[in-house]
Amino acid sequence: MTALRSLTTVAELAEAGLVPEAKRADAARVAERYAVAVTPALVALIDADDPSDPIARQFVPDAAELVTLPEERADPIGDLAHSPVEGIVHRYPDRVLLKAVHVCPVYCRFCFRREMVGPEGLGTLSANALDAAIAYIAERPEIWEVILTGGDPLVLSPRRLQAIMERLGAIAHVKIVRFHTRVPVVDPARVDAALIDALKASGKTTYVALHANHPREFTADARAAIARIVDAGMAMISQTVLLKGVNDDADVLAALMRSFVENRVKPYYLHHPDLAPGTAHFRLTLAEGRALVESLRGRVSGLCQPAYILDIPGGHGKVRADSTAVEEADDGCFRLRDFRGDVHAYPPQAD
Ligand code: SF4
Repeated sequence: MTALRSLTTVAELAEAGLVPEAKRADAARVAERYAVAVTPALVALIDADDPSDPIARQFVPDAAELVTLPEERADPIGDLAHSPVEGIVHRYPDRVLLKAVHVCPVYCRFCFRREMVGPEGLGTLSANALDAAIAYIAERPEIWEVILTGGDPLVLSPRRLQAIMERLGAIAHVKIVRFHTRVPVVDPARVDAALIDALKASGKTTYVALHANHPREFTADARAAIARIVDAGMAMISQTVLLKGVNDDADVLAALMRSFVENRVKPYYLHHPDLAPGTAHFRLTLAEGRALVESLRGRVSGLCQPAYILDIPGGHGKVRADSTAVEEADDGCFRLRDFRGDVHAYPPQAD
């Protein structure tokens, strides 16, 4: 199936053969609550005859999303608790998130910001809000790195991206600008010369963190888009979410990490899935996640080893999920020690 534009309704997905009639009503209920978008590149990649297709599972709404567990949170990693001004999340001393836009080319069914992104999400920062966010960064010399995320910052026009980069470029203490994006795999044609130029700022180092979860996402077009970014002098790192039914398999995970490395993307983060609402069907246990990560050791090159990360609910930062900072307690729950030394229960108590 070839689509000419992104599919954003259940009717369009059904017409493309991606939602069977029996599942249509539930999928429509999900779509009323959470945004839906599947790009033409992904529509072409989905095997509509495979009910377990790992690409479809990531993007096609499913009835399981209608079930919210008590420990799931609208803001699972606590962005709002660390947002001093609109569009900024300042969790660690030397870096901030700059969330200029809350729109994505695709909407992942497991998204940790699913309550914030989408056409009815938090939208794009207004000119005044962007001024305030940039001023916040400029006034704090301890901010060494700015991470553009959202939403997907690469949905912004090259003109808007360039304007942001020029303003960050004028702040001497900002040395690194990092973009988190899915665009090179889900909409590779968007990665053209104008977009690539817009990601650079004089005197700054740009990193592009590519979010991909399955080796099949590395199509010829995706590989070419990645090559254009790396050939333009930008470093690339990866992020993957460990997802049941998508990549919770040692062979798939090894192939995915090798795909990153073969395409000059250094594996960086493997995220344990967050406690986002309606995503329990994607979550493995920590023990299962640890066993999978352990299986990568020795099996694939050291270049292919990501850091297995859990974002501590409530906004307390990241912890290595396979380290001694994560300890199983007698009650079967875990105790997580954050970077300040404070200890938190996982899963957290329900609100
Ligand atoms: S691209 Fe990122 S922010 Fe957007 S829906 Fe997917 S996980 Fe969420």
